[in-house]
Amino acid sequence: MELRLHNTLSRKVELFVPIQTGKASVYSCGPTVYWFAHIGNMRAFLFSDVLNRVLKYNGFNVSLIMNVTDVGHLVADSDDGEDKMLLAMRREGKSAYEIAEFYAQAFFADLTRLNILPAKKYPRATDHITEQIAMVEDLKRNGFTYQTSDGIYFDTSKLSEYGQLSGQKLEDKMAGARVDVGEKRNGTDFALWKFAADGVTREMIWPSPWGVGFPGWHIECSAMSKKYLGVPFDIHTGGIDHIAIHHENEIAQTRGADGVLQANVWMHSEFITVDGGKMSKSLGNIFTIQDVIDRGYDPIAYRYFVLSGHYRSKINFTWEALDGAQNALTRLRGIVRDWPTITTPLPLLKKEGSIKFVSPPFQGGVGGGYGEQFHSAINDDLNTSQALAVLWELIGDRTILDEEKAATILEFDRVLGLGLKEYIGRAQFDEIPAQVQVLVDQRQSARTAKDWSESDRLRDEILELGFTVEDTADGQKVRSRVV
Ligand code: AMP
Ligand code: ZN
Repeated sequence: MELRLHNTLSRKVELFVPIQTGKASVYSCGPTVYWFAHIGNMRAFLFSDVLNRVLKYNGFNVSLIMNVTDVGHLVADSDDGEDKMLLAMRREGKSAYEIAEFYAQAFFADLTRLNILPAKKYPRATDHITEQIAMVEDLKRNGFTYQTSDGIYFDTSKLSEYGQLSGQKLEDKMAGARVDVGEKRNGTDFALWKFAADGVTREMIWPSPWGVGFPGWHIECSAMSKKYLGVPFDIHTGGIDHIAIHHENEIAQTRGADGVLQANVWMHSEFITVDGGKMSKSLGNIFTIQDVIDRGYDPIAYRYFVLSGHYRSKINFTWEALDGAQNALTRLRGIVRDWPTITTPLPLLKKEGSIKFVSPPFQGGVGGGYGEQFHSAINDDLNTSQALAVLWELIGDRTILDEEKAATILEFDRVLGLGLKEYIGRAQFDEIPAQVQVLVDQRQSARTAKDWSESDRLRDEILELGFTVEDTADGQKVRSRVV
């Protein structure tokens, strides 16, 4: 089945054609580790995870590389402002390396909590200073750099394609920028290497052919993507705020140094707003995954919430919306745990068009089985909300055996990553503690005596102990509550 992805560069949804048959090379811009990643940041990483999983589902051998920016880059995307890492050091009284390590570990923990598949590698900027210097040297040799009193800069006027990604002409960008260019030749020029001689004591500085200093932010991604994937590679991802500056500059660097387009497909995820507005310190609405957990939610409910929107649409986060996602997830887990455990091998999707799920034609009139419906949803530029709709449609279909549903949904979960495998068929392994069994037996007597209020009271008491009781034709059915 064809996989179609939106390419910011062409502004179109295009057929994905890998550079090497059967392989997909992906670079996702990762976190800056001077603070906890917030739920907005995690949306960008959930998006890259869905892409990774969809590529795998389609049979591609995926190489996903995600950088960790552990060298302080400057506030906002421009070259002005204070170094974020320095701010963190002052705030926490720790060394730059300690800060980077602490927040990198917190980030990896969040990835695990959200069931995000690990990338092949998480290269750190500070481990690749040599590669970054080498690239700046290539740029210098090719005539794209100049020096000011504070660093080595990329001259964007030397590259006719500059602005290709955001579709802005250089003159427009410069007019829009309205910044004091200082010693820069053009407003859009950016630092490749900054000199440390600015009176600030720093830990993260290195010698270079141009003097002691540290790399500009953008160069790490050009240098590390080249090292681990080679250029050009297939897909580059990030949040939409990366389009205008960071990715534009990555493209410029790779073109300037290596003469090629860095990646064929550029994909960007939209932002999350909170209560309809921007997340900001002053509003106190910068939530992390830990906040989500502290408020009693399963982090996978946040994953479900993100999947219920399209990655190219803004989504608005509210705690009520997260309640909705948590309820849907809990319901889903509750349903699948009643299904039989699958003992037969799963009909694994090995290659395109090999879905073997036996399903009746889709009732929605589009035709095809649920497996195909699901596959075509995710292959339509990662339409996860449609994919979830197909999942619920399948669940509600009384003509399909539970065992078959279980097998199919396990396949779907390779993309959705809701961790349903842990839940399917689990009800039969529930152990009912003696304390609960006593209440259940009492309830049976109450029901025989038609004492409904006592029966209800006992049900509540059982519920408080974490078990639900349902009255069926075969008597009471007791199960542990799904959380
Ligand atoms: P940073 O660690 O600041 O480099 O950000 C990591 C990722 O989070 C980037 O891809 C950003 O585009 C993305 N991002 C930042 N804020 C938001 C937001 N409010 N909603 C969604 N993504 C965001
Ligand atoms: Zn990057």
